[in-house]
Amino acid sequence: MLAKDTVIPFVFESLPVRGALVQLESTWQRMQRDHDYPEPVAEVLGHSAAATVLIAQSLKFDGTITLQINSEGPLSMLVMQSTDNLDLRGMASAHGIASDMAFADLVAGARCAVTVDSGAMERPYQGIVTISPDSLAASLENYFARSVQVPSHLHLARNEVLCGGILLQQMPGESPTLEDDWRRLGFLAKTLRAEDLADGASHALLHNMFAEDDVRAFRPREARFRCRCTRQKVEEVLRLLGEEETRTACEEQGRVEVTCEYCGRLRTFDVVDVTRVFTDQAVSGSDSLH
Ligand SMILES: [Zn+2]
Repeated sequence: MLAKDTVIPFVFESLPVRGALVQLESTWQRMQRDHDYPEPVAEVLGHSAAATVLIAQSLKFDGTITLQINSEGPLSMLVMQSTDNLDLRGMASAHGIASDMAFADLVAGARCAVTVDSGAMERPYQGIVTISPDSLAASLENYFARSVQVPSHLHLARNEVLCGGILLQQMPGESPTLEDDWRRLGFLAKTLRAEDLADGASHALLHNMFAEDDVRAFRPREARFRCRCTRQKVEEVLRLLGEEETRTACEEQGRVEVTCEYCGRLRTFDVVDVTRVFTDQAVSGSDSLH
């Protein structure tokens, strides 16, 4: 079975290991559409998209999971967010990027966190990811092993057309995976290339990768690009900015234009709209998404 923009969860029948394989194509292209990301930034963004879907798929939660990187390096900010339903959005902002920059150069002094905001929890849970200079995948592998105590293999791949990856995790509470098997599975996972995912994540690809193992694959789950921005949320941002600043900007340019950094949607506020935003606070926002 071939399917694009899907995640295929699976388990190994004879090893206490579960996993998921993801491929994102239209989601990935849509995410890049309104941006002109330099190659090294696109690489990290694509890896983040695949990783965030894999993490969202691996958790039982109801809400959103956000992977965020803030750094003093050229990649100043990256945000990738997935809902439990695998609605994905993400963006990066960067400056002074050279085409041959390695991951370590991009994220100098970075802070990275995975935040789960679930309706079932009183407040969001935030896990701090220590950045490994090697790659985002290595950083997240360390995070799973040390902070979440779930030994994991994560391998991510990307090209201009698609991004994807594979996550293998030892199942908690089961007998420990034999080290040789675990190492072997990790080695096989790291053979995954973006080209292998050209036709989507497939059961056939999984069975080829793990030809010696008995893999039981489950029904694919669909992922998609979906931004949850609304005009009401933009109005809230304008209120935070303040009436004076907003009015001044409106007078200077005849209108205020706000573009969503995730989906590129432009929202325009003329002088009448701005007046309403600052006089009509009790009413507006009533139909915003929460
Ligand atoms: Zn948006």
